Amino acid sequence: MRTVYVNGDFLPEDRAHISVFDRGFLMADGVYEVTSVLDGKLIDFHSHIRRLKRSLEALDMNMPMTSEDFLALHRGIVEKNQITDGLVYLQVTRGAPADRDFVFPDPDSTPLTIIAFTQSKPGLADNPLSKTGIRVISVEDIRWGRRDIKTVQLLYPSMAKMMAQKAGADDAWMVLDGIVTEGTSNNAYIVKDGEIITRPRSNEILHGITRAAVLQYAKDRQMALVERAFSLDEARNADEAFITSASQFVMPVVEIDGTQIGDGKPGSVAPKLREIYIRESRRSAI
Ligand code: PMP
Repeated sequence: MRTVYVNGDFLPEDRAHISVFDRGFLMADGVYEVTSVLDGKLIDFHSHIRRLKRSLEALDMNMPMTSEDFLALHRGIVEKNQITDGLVYLQVTRGAPADRDFVFPDPDSTPLTIIAFTQSKPGLADNPLSKTGIRVISVEDIRWGRRDIKTVQLLYPSMAKMMAQKAGADDAWMVLDGIVTEGTSNNAYIVKDGEIITRPRSNEILHGITRAAVLQYAKDRQMALVERAFSLDEARNADEAFITSASQFVMPVVEIDGTQIGDGKPGSVAPKLREIYIRESRRSAI
Protein backbone atom coordinates (compact mmCIF):
# COMPACT_ATOMS: atom_id res chain seq x y z
CA MET A 1 0.00 0.00 0.00
CA ARG A 2 1.20 3.46 -0.86
CA THR A 3 2.09 6.15 1.60
CA VAL A 4 0.46 9.44 0.59
CA TYR A 5 0.78 12.97 1.95
CA VAL A 6 -2.14 15.03 3.24
CA ASN A 7 -1.72 18.42 4.94
CA GLY A 8 1.48 17.68 6.81
CA ASP A 9 1.06 13.95 7.40
CA PHE A 10 2.36 10.90 5.61
CA LEU A 11 -0.37 8.24 5.82
CA PRO A 12 -1.27 4.86 4.30
CA GLU A 13 -3.50 5.66 1.30
CA ASP A 14 -6.57 4.08 2.90
CA ARG A 15 -6.31 6.39 5.91
CA ALA A 16 -6.01 9.63 3.97
CA HIS A 17 -9.12 11.84 3.99
CA ILE A 18 -10.27 15.03 2.29
CA SER A 19 -13.37 17.02 3.28
CA VAL A 20 -16.43 16.80 1.04
CA PHE A 21 -16.39 20.62 1.15
CA ASP A 22 -12.93 20.82 -0.37
CA ARG A 23 -13.07 23.30 -3.25
CA GLY A 24 -10.77 21.10 -5.28
CA PHE A 25 -13.45 18.43 -5.17
CA LEU A 26 -16.50 20.72 -5.55
CA MET A 27 -15.18 23.32 -8.00
CA ALA A 28 -11.89 22.10 -9.47
CA ASP A 29 -10.46 25.05 -7.51
CA GLY A 30 -6.91 23.81 -7.31
CA VAL A 31 -3.65 23.38 -9.15
CA TYR A 32 -1.17 20.56 -9.51
CA GLU A 33 2.27 19.52 -10.63
CA VAL A 34 3.68 16.21 -11.81
CA THR A 35 7.40 15.71 -11.30
CA SER A 36 9.17 12.71 -12.76
CA VAL A 37 11.55 10.52 -10.80
CA LEU A 38 14.47 8.71 -12.43
CA ASP A 39 16.97 6.69 -10.37
CA GLY A 40 15.14 7.89 -7.22
CA LYS A 41 15.83 11.55 -8.08
CA LEU A 42 13.55 14.42 -9.07
CA ILE A 43 13.62 15.82 -12.61
CA ASP A 44 13.27 19.60 -13.18
CA PHE A 45 12.03 19.96 -9.58
CA HIS A 46 12.68 23.68 -9.11
CA SER A 47 10.97 24.55 -12.39
CA HIS A 48 7.87 22.62 -11.33
CA ILE A 49 7.75 24.46 -8.01
CA ARG A 50 8.19 27.83 -9.75
CA ARG A 51 5.25 27.00 -12.01
CA LEU A 52 3.19 25.88 -9.01
CA LYS A 53 3.78 29.32 -7.45
CA ARG A 54 2.78 31.00 -10.70
CA SER A 55 -0.42 28.93 -10.97
CA LEU A 56 -1.34 29.62 -7.34
CA GLU A 57 -0.73 33.36 -7.67
CA ALA A 58 -2.76 33.54 -10.87
CA LEU A 59 -5.68 32.23 -8.79
CA ASP A 60 -5.03 34.50 -5.77
CA MET A 61 -3.48 31.79 -3.64
CA ASN A 62 -0.09 31.93 -1.95
CA MET A 63 2.56 29.25 -1.69
CA PRO A 64 1.57 27.28 1.40
CA MET A 65 5.15 26.25 2.16
CA THR A 66 8.67 27.07 1.00
CA SER A 67 10.39 25.41 -1.96
CA GLU A 68 12.67 23.66 0.54
CA ASP A 69 9.65 22.23 2.34
CA PHE A 70 8.19 21.07 -0.98
CA LEU A 71 11.53 19.45 -1.79
CA ALA A 72 11.56 17.66 1.57
CA LEU A 73 7.97 16.52 0.95
CA HIS A 74 8.90 15.17 -2.51
CA ARG A 75 12.02 13.44 -1.28
CA GLY A 76 10.14 12.03 1.69
CA ILE A 77 7.35 10.54 -0.39
CA VAL A 78 9.78 9.11 -2.96
CA GLU A 79 11.75 7.45 -0.20
CA LYS A 80 8.76 6.14 1.75
CA ASN A 81 7.37 4.54 -1.41
CA GLN A 82 10.76 3.35 -2.65
CA ILE A 83 10.27 4.92 -6.04
CA THR A 84 13.14 4.35 -8.45
CA ASP A 85 11.34 5.44 -11.63
CA GLY A 86 7.95 7.08 -11.55
CA LEU A 87 6.37 10.34 -10.62
CA VAL A 88 5.19 12.52 -7.78
CA TYR A 89 1.75 14.11 -8.09
CA LEU A 90 1.29 17.25 -5.99
CA GLN A 91 -2.01 19.09 -5.65
CA VAL A 92 -2.89 22.30 -3.83
CA THR A 93 -6.52 23.39 -3.53
CA ARG A 94 -8.25 26.40 -1.97
CA GLY A 95 -9.13 24.23 1.00
CA ALA A 96 -12.38 23.21 2.64
CA PRO A 97 -14.57 26.08 3.89
CA ALA A 98 -17.58 25.40 6.15
CA ASP A 99 -20.00 25.50 3.22
CA ARG A 100 -20.16 25.47 -0.55
CA ASP A 101 -19.95 29.07 -1.71
CA PHE A 102 -18.77 30.69 -4.96
CA VAL A 103 -17.02 33.39 -2.93
CA PHE A 104 -13.46 32.44 -2.04
CA PRO A 105 -13.04 31.61 1.66
CA ASP A 106 -10.81 33.76 3.87
CA PRO A 107 -7.37 32.13 3.57
CA ASP A 108 -6.67 32.91 7.25
CA SER A 109 -9.48 30.63 8.41
CA THR A 110 -9.41 28.15 5.49
CA PRO A 111 -5.93 26.81 4.84
CA LEU A 112 -5.06 25.41 1.43
CA THR A 113 -5.25 21.62 1.09
CA ILE A 114 -1.97 20.00 0.09
CA ILE A 115 -1.86 16.40 -1.05
CA ALA A 116 0.79 14.33 -2.77
CA PHE A 117 1.18 10.75 -3.91
CA THR A 118 3.56 8.71 -6.03
CA GLN A 119 3.10 6.47 -9.04
CA SER A 120 5.75 3.85 -9.62
CA LYS A 121 6.68 3.42 -13.30
CA PRO A 122 9.62 1.06 -13.63
CA GLY A 123 11.51 1.71 -16.85
CA LEU A 124 9.87 5.12 -17.31
CA ALA A 125 12.70 6.30 -19.57
CA ASP A 126 12.50 3.16 -21.72
CA ASN A 127 8.89 3.45 -22.80
CA PRO A 128 8.65 1.14 -25.86
CA LEU A 129 6.25 3.60 -27.52
CA SER A 130 9.19 5.95 -27.99
CA LYS A 131 10.58 3.46 -30.53
CA THR A 132 7.43 3.31 -32.64
CA GLY A 133 5.90 6.71 -31.91
CA ILE A 134 2.28 7.46 -31.04
CA ARG A 135 -0.79 8.16 -33.14
CA VAL A 136 -2.97 11.18 -32.41
CA ILE A 137 -6.34 12.46 -33.55
CA SER A 138 -7.33 16.12 -33.65
CA VAL A 139 -10.17 17.43 -31.53
CA GLU A 140 -11.59 20.90 -31.14
CA ASP A 141 -10.03 22.81 -28.25
CA ILE A 142 -13.00 23.90 -26.15
CA ARG A 143 -11.12 24.53 -22.89
CA TRP A 144 -11.24 27.79 -20.97
CA GLY A 145 -8.92 30.70 -21.80
CA ARG A 146 -6.31 30.29 -19.05
CA ARG A 147 -4.62 27.07 -20.07
CA ASP A 148 -1.35 28.49 -18.77
CA ILE A 149 -2.63 27.84 -15.24
CA LYS A 150 -2.19 24.18 -14.32
CA THR A 151 -5.62 23.65 -12.77
CA VAL A 152 -7.16 20.30 -11.90
CA GLN A 153 -10.09 20.87 -14.29
CA LEU A 154 -9.06 18.08 -16.62
CA LEU A 155 -12.46 16.85 -17.76
CA TYR A 156 -12.11 17.93 -21.39
CA PRO A 157 -8.55 16.60 -21.82
CA SER A 158 -9.82 13.39 -20.28
CA MET A 159 -12.75 13.27 -22.74
CA ALA A 160 -10.35 13.99 -25.62
CA LYS A 161 -8.20 11.08 -24.52
CA MET A 162 -11.31 8.85 -24.60
CA MET A 163 -12.15 10.10 -28.12
CA ALA A 164 -8.60 9.12 -29.12
CA GLN A 165 -8.98 5.71 -27.54
CA LYS A 166 -12.30 5.17 -29.33
CA ALA A 167 -10.63 6.06 -32.63
CA GLY A 168 -7.85 3.55 -31.97
CA ALA A 169 -5.26 6.29 -31.39
CA ASP A 170 -3.02 7.05 -28.42
CA ASP A 171 -3.77 10.70 -27.75
CA ALA A 172 -5.37 13.86 -29.12
CA TRP A 173 -4.07 17.22 -30.28
CA MET A 174 -6.41 20.09 -29.59
CA VAL A 175 -7.07 22.54 -32.39
CA LEU A 176 -8.49 26.05 -32.31
CA ASP A 177 -9.46 27.71 -35.64
CA GLY A 178 -7.26 25.26 -37.53
CA ILE A 179 -4.24 25.96 -35.30
CA VAL A 180 -2.81 23.30 -32.98
CA THR A 181 -2.75 24.42 -29.35
CA GLU A 182 -1.31 21.37 -27.55
CA GLY A 183 -1.90 17.74 -26.66
CA THR A 184 -4.29 16.59 -23.93
CA SER A 185 -1.42 16.53 -21.43
CA ASN A 186 1.62 17.58 -23.43
CA ASN A 187 3.02 20.28 -25.70
CA ALA A 188 3.02 19.76 -29.47
CA TYR A 189 5.81 20.21 -32.03
CA ILE A 190 6.48 19.63 -35.69
CA VAL A 191 9.73 19.48 -37.64
CA LYS A 192 9.89 20.83 -41.20
CA ASP A 193 13.06 21.08 -43.29
CA GLY A 194 15.16 20.54 -40.17
CA GLU A 195 13.44 23.31 -38.20
CA ILE A 196 11.72 22.54 -34.88
CA ILE A 197 8.43 24.44 -34.69
CA THR A 198 6.31 24.90 -31.56
CA ARG A 199 3.79 27.44 -30.34
CA PRO A 200 5.12 30.33 -28.27
CA ARG A 201 4.00 30.58 -24.65
CA SER A 202 0.70 32.41 -24.09
CA ASN A 203 -2.53 31.91 -22.17
CA GLU A 204 -3.54 29.36 -24.84
CA ILE A 205 -1.16 26.62 -23.69
CA LEU A 206 0.45 25.27 -20.58
CA HIS A 207 4.03 26.44 -20.29
CA GLY A 208 5.50 22.96 -20.18
CA ILE A 209 8.51 22.44 -17.96
CA THR A 210 9.77 19.76 -20.34
CA ARG A 211 9.16 22.16 -23.23
CA ALA A 212 11.38 24.81 -21.62
CA ALA A 213 14.15 22.30 -20.92
CA VAL A 214 14.02 20.69 -24.38
CA LEU A 215 14.05 24.07 -26.15
CA GLN A 216 17.05 25.15 -24.09
CA TYR A 217 18.93 21.94 -24.89
CA ALA A 218 18.11 22.41 -28.60
CA LYS A 219 19.33 26.03 -28.51
CA ASP A 220 22.52 25.03 -26.70
CA ARG A 221 23.20 22.66 -29.58
CA GLN A 222 22.45 25.26 -32.28
CA MET A 223 19.50 23.25 -33.56
CA ALA A 224 17.12 25.27 -35.78
CA LEU A 225 14.13 26.31 -33.72
CA VAL A 226 11.19 28.63 -34.19
CA GLU A 227 8.43 29.43 -31.72
CA ARG A 228 5.34 30.05 -33.82
CA ALA A 229 1.84 28.68 -34.12
CA PHE A 230 1.33 25.93 -36.71
CA SER A 231 -1.81 24.63 -38.35
CA LEU A 232 -3.17 21.12 -38.37
CA ASP A 233 -2.56 21.07 -42.15
CA GLU A 234 1.10 21.94 -41.64
CA ALA A 235 1.36 19.22 -39.03
CA ARG A 236 -0.05 16.63 -41.41
CA ASN A 237 2.57 17.65 -43.97
CA ALA A 238 5.47 17.90 -41.54
CA ASP A 239 8.59 15.73 -41.73
CA GLU A 240 8.25 14.81 -38.05
CA ALA A 241 6.02 15.55 -35.09
CA PHE A 242 6.43 15.00 -31.39
CA ILE A 243 5.17 15.90 -27.94
CA THR A 244 6.83 16.69 -24.62
CA SER A 245 5.69 16.25 -21.03
CA ALA A 246 7.17 15.45 -17.64
CA SER A 247 6.09 11.81 -17.80
CA GLN A 248 6.59 11.12 -21.53
CA PHE A 249 9.75 13.23 -21.96
CA VAL A 250 10.00 13.56 -25.76
CA MET A 251 7.65 11.23 -27.63
CA PRO A 252 7.49 10.97 -31.45
CA VAL A 253 4.09 11.33 -33.14
CA VAL A 254 3.86 9.30 -36.35
CA GLU A 255 0.24 9.74 -37.38
CA ILE A 256 -2.35 12.52 -37.17
CA ASP A 257 -5.99 11.68 -37.98
CA GLY A 258 -4.82 8.59 -39.84
CA THR A 259 -2.34 10.54 -41.97
CA GLN A 260 1.19 9.27 -41.69
CA ILE A 261 3.80 11.89 -40.73
CA GLY A 262 6.94 11.66 -42.85
CA ASP A 263 7.59 7.97 -43.41
CA GLY A 264 5.48 6.95 -40.43
CA LYS A 265 8.52 6.32 -38.26
CA PRO A 266 9.92 8.45 -35.43
CA GLY A 267 12.43 10.36 -37.61
CA SER A 268 15.74 11.77 -36.37
CA VAL A 269 15.04 14.99 -34.45
CA ALA A 270 12.58 13.68 -31.83
CA PRO A 271 14.64 10.60 -30.87
CA LYS A 272 17.74 12.78 -30.62
CA LEU A 273 15.97 15.32 -28.38
CA ARG A 274 14.60 12.48 -26.28
CA GLU A 275 18.04 11.05 -25.75
CA ILE A 276 19.50 14.48 -24.87
CA TYR A 277 16.63 15.31 -22.52
CA ILE A 278 16.85 12.01 -20.62
CA ARG A 279 20.63 12.19 -20.36
CA GLU A 280 20.66 15.81 -19.15
CA SER A 281 17.75 15.17 -16.79
CA ARG A 282 19.47 12.24 -15.14
CA ARG A 283 22.57 14.40 -14.74
CA SER A 284 20.78 17.39 -13.19
CA ALA A 285 18.23 15.41 -11.13
CA ILE A 286 18.17 16.16 -7.41
N1 PMP B 1 0.12 20.82 -21.78
C1 PMP B 1 -0.82 20.30 -20.97
C2 PMP B 1 -2.25 20.62 -21.23
C3 PMP B 1 -0.45 19.45 -19.91
O1 PMP B 1 -1.41 18.94 -19.09
C4 PMP B 1 0.92 19.13 -19.71
C5 PMP B 1 1.35 18.19 -18.63
N2 PMP B 1 0.82 18.45 -17.41
C6 PMP B 1 1.86 19.69 -20.58
C7 PMP B 1 1.43 20.54 -21.60
C8 PMP B 1 3.32 19.39 -20.43
O2 PMP B 1 3.87 20.06 -19.33
P1 PMP B 1 5.12 19.47 -18.54
O3 PMP B 1 6.23 19.37 -19.55
O4 PMP B 1 5.41 20.50 -17.51
O5 PMP B 1 4.71 18.16 -17.99
